[in-house]
Amino acid sequence: MQEASKKEAKRIGIGMVAGLILGLVLYYTNTGVVFDYIKPIGDIFISLLKMIIIPLVFSSIFMSMYHLGTPESLGTMGTRAVGYYFVTTAIAVLWGIIFVNLINPGIGADLGTAGLSGLDATKQSMVNANSSGFSALFKAVKDVVMGAVPSNPVNAMAEGNILQVIVFAILFGMVALYLPKDSEPVVKVIGGVEKMSLFLTHGIMKFAPIGIFVLMSGVLAKSGFTAIQSLAKYMITVILGLLFHGGFLLVIACWRSKKSPVFVLKAIGPAIITAFSTASSAATLPITMANVEENMGVRKDTAKFVLPLGATINMDGTALYESVAAIFIAQAYGIDLSINQQLIIFLTASLAAIGAAAIPGAGLITMSIVLSAVGLPIEGIGLILAVDRVLDMFRTAVNVFGDSVGTIVVDSLLSSEDIKDETRT
Ligand code: ASP
Repeated sequence: MQEASKKEAKRIGIGMVAGLILGLVLYYTNTGVVFDYIKPIGDIFISLLKMIIIPLVFSSIFMSMYHLGTPESLGTMGTRAVGYYFVTTAIAVLWGIIFVNLINPGIGADLGTAGLSGLDATKQSMVNANSSGFSALFKAVKDVVMGAVPSNPVNAMAEGNILQVIVFAILFGMVALYLPKDSEPVVKVIGGVEKMSLFLTHGIMKFAPIGIFVLMSGVLAKSGFTAIQSLAKYMITVILGLLFHGGFLLVIACWRSKKSPVFVLKAIGPAIITAFSTASSAATLPITMANVEENMGVRKDTAKFVLPLGATINMDGTALYESVAAIFIAQAYGIDLSINQQLIIFLTASLAAIGAAAIPGAGLITMSIVLSAVGLPIEGIGLILAVDRVLDMFRTAVNVFGDSVGTIVVDSLLSSEDIKDETRT
């Protein structure tokens, strides 16, 4: 790991802790309004990260397709990546189900009069649209598959639909392989866009400590720990599950990379902290790519393909959270879930995580898929609303760690013949 990256990781860590302290000070001195004045700095940081996502994802995937050389190589990498995503997501849901059944956070919980009213109108209609009873499972699968194919790539880019951009970049990159002469100028331009996007990412990362400092202070500035207290047991269950899964992923990462846990955590630390403070895997993607390539030494062509795909469809943290939340809601309403229903939760929580966008709060919206599939009241979402943002931070950190570990695993499973262009840093 380079000296500069170590310093960067340290500065980001300091930004996070200092931000939490400032948030507490603002809360306890009743000066939470101060946060409104510094909030734009955090917003600018998130906008900068978002700004770079589309050029970075499109050019990276296109160039990695081009370097892969053959559709077979894409197949080899793709099947390994998707295989990893499925297995680890399923394991994450399993931990969630085990933890929530052991701790039983919802039994005897005080429901109050919570409902969907806490969600804004758009989110309410999205939740209701998802809740189509028995067809929920089919709809979830259909939405994921259909949603991946762009009818208009320019529109997909404009809307920031990363999955559609990925699909278009894969196809366009493959065509470039078949028409090497005609595509030469295009490859040059997109190769240039890729290098420029990476350069810009490094510039934005210099701004990360201050951006993270501001975002973290906002978490506690206004309401301190009030929301957290009432749902403490539920939160502890989710966080314990996430930490457990994080530990499990860390073991895999150390095994495949032959590096120590401290090394791995330091190497991916900036991405984990950025995920934690932005609650968005997509916004964190530029930093995750830089960390995995430069600090973990993963081959660039692996990282460029596996990470953007992972950020969009591989969400271990969200899957775990969805299973805990659904069973918590059932417990809180006094509904006993049969083994069959828990099995349906297992399946739908995995799907709901795949379908969730890599943005803040997306997991809460796709919760309705899980709830409606087992006939639980959709209003239950209102119960967990108050602490969703905090849990979103934890689950996004695990999502991003899972993507990073996936890239390490896939890279370790590929021989140099699978990747024509050896580009270790
Ligand atoms: N915020 C999460 C992410 O971007 C998605 C979720 O809400 O669970 O990874």
